[in-house]
Amino acid sequence: MKRPSKPLYNSASVPEKDCIFCKIVAGKLPSYRVYEDANHVAFLDINPFSKGHTLVCPKRHGETLWDMDEKEIADVFMVASKVSTAIVPAMNADGFRLMQNNGEAANQAVAHIHVHVIPSKLEEKGKFGRIKLTEDEMAGVAEAIRKEVAKLG
Ligand code: 5GP
Ligand code: ZN
Repeated sequence: MKRPSKPLYNSASVPEKDCIFCKIVAGKLPSYRVYEDANHVAFLDINPFSKGHTLVCPKRHGETLWDMDEKEIADVFMVASKVSTAIVPAMNADGFRLMQNNGEAANQAVAHIHVHVIPSKLEEKGKFGRIKLTEDEMAGVAEAIRKEVAKLG
C-alpha cells in the first residue's frame, strides 16, 4: 500500500526503547492485562472513559497505522472486536466504541499503535468523559473481563 512519505507529527514520539506500551507489553511496567495472543496484548486504560476501557496493542512497536501492513491493521481491529465480546458482558454494558488515534492532531498521546475499546451503558448515553477508578475497582474490572475472555474460542 502506498502511503505519504511525510510521517504524522507527534510530540509524544519516542525511541522504541523508551516506549511505555512496549514496556507494558514486555511486562516491564505493570498493567491490568486482560488478553494476550502471539501478536497482541490488551490491558485496561489507566485513565478510562468508562469501566472496562481497554487498549489493544500490537506487540510490535509502530507509532501509527501507517507503520503497519494491511494484515497487521486487520488483525488489531479483529482483536479489538474479539475483546469487545468479552468486555461488554463483563461490564454489563449495552454497546461499545472503538477509537484509534493517529498523530498529535488526532490527540494521540502514546506513540505506540493501540485501539481503544470503550464499553457504554444506555443509562450513560450522551455522557463521555474520563472517570476515576480505585486500584481495587480496576482489579475487579480486569478480573471480570478475564473471566469472559476465558469463555472465548
Ligand atoms: P491515545 O490518546 O494515544 O489514543 O490514548 C492513550 C491512552 O493511553 C490514554 O487513554 C491514556 O489514559 C492511556 N495511558 C497513558 N499512559 C498509560 C499507562 O502507563 N498505562 C495504561 N494502562 N494506560 C495509559
Ligand atoms: Zn512501543
